[in-house]
Amino acid sequence: MVQERQRRGKGVCWMLRLWSVAVISILLLSACFVASCVLTYQFTTDNPNRRLFELHTYHSSISCFSEGTMVSEKMWGCCPNHWKPFGSSCYLISTKENFWSISEQNCVEMGAHLVVINTEAEQTFITQQLNESLSYFLGLSDPQGNGKWQWTDNTPLSQTVRFWHPNEPNSPAERCASIVFWNPAKWAWNDVLCDTKRRSICEMKKIYL
Ligand code: CA
Repeated sequence: MVQERQRRGKGVCWMLRLWSVAVISILLLSACFVASCVLTYQFTTDNPNRRLFELHTYHSSISCFSEGTMVSEKMWGCCPNHWKPFGSSCYLISTKENFWSISEQNCVEMGAHLVVINTEAEQTFITQQLNESLSYFLGLSDPQGNGKWQWTDNTPLSQTVRFWHPNEPNSPAERCASIVFWNPAKWAWNDVLCDTKRRSICEMKKIYL
């Protein structure tokens, strides 16, 4: 009788241990599930991760490069694949020609705008990517034809950073700016009719991680 009770007691003890292990495992799995939901939620709502998430809707893959020389400054600057990184931006040179407004729309659909040139270094970098026998729309236009040139980010054209070819802009009817290689001035800007088809350059801000 005593042996029978001891054997039953041991059985109940094992059952309790098994149940405890099962309950603890379920609790741990639940905790992991909640944590993963929180991480997913942060990935989709936090900036800049929200931009990264949005960019995934236009671009299937993104390349990131380490930036900053100090360990404390280490961060990653990311551009969509096939876009060229320079400074704090990414650039894409179109392979097809289109009107200015459609070119801008194509950039917008990829989360970008037609390029805004802020420095000579930026212009030099961009022209290194271009074909000297073609011309390319910039994100610069004079919507009213009254000489008030403005960029696609709504900033007016600076008095100091402007790289027109000699004697350009030369026509109130030409309300969109292009960049073109002419001798002897080399790469510089020319005002052209907006409804002419050209290649174009899109620019977007890098995403920093
Ligand atoms: Ca012109």
